[in-house]
Amino acid sequence: MAAKYIFITGGVVSSLGKGLASAALGAILQARGYKVRLRKLDPYINVDPGTMSPYQHGECYVTDDGAETDLDLGHYERFTGVSSRQSDNVTTGRIYSEVLAKERRGDYLGGTVQVIPHITDAIKEFVQSDVTDEDFILCEVGGTVGDIESLPFLEAIRQVRNDLGRANTCYLHVTLLPYISVAGELKTKPTQHSVKELLSVGIQPDILLCRADTEIPKGEKRKIALFCNVKEECVIPALNVDTIYDVPNAYHKEGLDVEILRHFDMLEEGKEDDVDLSRWDNIVDRVRNPEGEVNIAVIGKYVELLDAYKSLNESLIHGGIANNVRVNINWIESGRFEDQDPADHLGDMDAILVPGGFGERGAEGKIAAVKYARENKVPYFGICFGMQMAVIEAARNLAGIADAGSSEFSDCKEPIVGLLTEWKKGNRVETRADNSDMGGTMRLGAYPCALVEGTKAHEIYGGSYVEERHRHRYEVNVAYKDRLEAAGMKFSGLSPDGVLPEIVEIPDHPWFVAVQYHPELKSRPFEPHPLFSSFVQAAMEKSRLV
Ligand code: GLN
Repeated sequence: MAAKYIFITGGVVSSLGKGLASAALGAILQARGYKVRLRKLDPYINVDPGTMSPYQHGECYVTDDGAETDLDLGHYERFTGVSSRQSDNVTTGRIYSEVLAKERRGDYLGGTVQVIPHITDAIKEFVQSDVTDEDFILCEVGGTVGDIESLPFLEAIRQVRNDLGRANTCYLHVTLLPYISVAGELKTKPTQHSVKELLSVGIQPDILLCRADTEIPKGEKRKIALFCNVKEECVIPALNVDTIYDVPNAYHKEGLDVEILRHFDMLEEGKEDDVDLSRWDNIVDRVRNPEGEVNIAVIGKYVELLDAYKSLNESLIHGGIANNVRVNINWIESGRFEDQDPADHLGDMDAILVPGGFGERGAEGKIAAVKYARENKVPYFGICFGMQMAVIEAARNLAGIADAGSSEFSDCKEPIVGLLTEWKKGNRVETRADNSDMGGTMRLGAYPCALVEGTKAHEIYGGSYVEERHRHRYEVNVAYKDRLEAAGMKFSGLSPDGVLPEIVEIPDHPWFVAVQYHPELKSRPFEPHPLFSSFVQAAMEKSRLV
């Protein structure tokens, strides 16, 4: 059977949770035994989100094959367990650069290059590329219907129905029914308008997923169906839930999967509830009924925008799920510790985490937090920048290298952390220079790491070899390894050629592990990452829960 395409668009307002809705639908279809792949079409002009500030775009999610992608791909992976690839996220910028490169090569043979058909063809090609034996391709269009930027994408997905037919394509539109308290009513007009907007570009949605704060009365459903020209059963309420991991269950109860299958004529009589969502029941049960709680401080620079730490937030929750505890995350702005005593903020914490980050602002505050955790034996987890800061702290305060610093901030006498200009990716050598482009030039994607026997890292992973995802330009300088080890910091994981430090730990500490990669990108609710499970367990030990 050829793959069926489900296109997910959003209307009325942004931040409706379209990404989550797509991910949850993917999970339900999986729970019905189907193979799914999820993709995202992003209408902005950046070639990828790698060069954008986390304030603009939230976290940049990195795939195994080294693509810097939208954070929705993190939802897709966490809900379906299917590893995303470069071919699962595209932007206007990438589409245009490909079309323009072809134009320069002369591939268009003298033709005029236009949005329709050249840009739309490139989008259609992308949507249908790299598909193997999947039953469903769920393809989310970023932005809100009515934006100028999304027009070529909407035109492309409109054409896909013409090419493949109704039997192979389904349009799912996510909208909002605002509650007007003075009237005491949910309003349907914005939904009607947004469907009209879609119709004006030739797309009649097949199913509406209506976000609302309260139950949608039957009369309103009927009204939406009538005005938006969809079947009443295809107006699916999407009410708020207390944990995102309940979304697959909630949508199934409202009949989303049944209507999708009906649309494709794939629903066998009497098989409406033929779905195994037990793994989600189990996760939701653990989230709702923890046996205790721990307080973990996360010291970062982008803490006002939690989307910047989306995967980290989820991974800590997963660590809690693994240990049956609730993890209370205290987000603390790192700059604070540059003039305030960390003890005032960290005294009540069961564990401390310094996540990834860029640039000098807040770095000294992070180093102060590391020092506090190390000296007071509070479990410490450093991720990427958080590892680099941990190594600088140890160099300064354990190994007595007073000028220890990172060349990311300025030229320093003792570059414990330095710019990486050459490294191996498989059999290939990758090179960079000081003045390389910023976009797509970090050490990106999955790289192997050899774990040293007898270390905590080895024990936690239960093996000697792991692959984890990277996204950074700087590296801990292996030339300092011997001096740091002599001072009490163990290098417990290195690239197989021994050149790139991947994990450091302090053996004389209850739990002090810092990694150069981003383990949060591979944690899933039903498969919590071992480092997060172990870290949360260490926090429980600190708070004497075990
Ligand atoms: N700024 C650091 C680097 O580029 C760390 C990046 C990160 O934490 N992702 O190496």
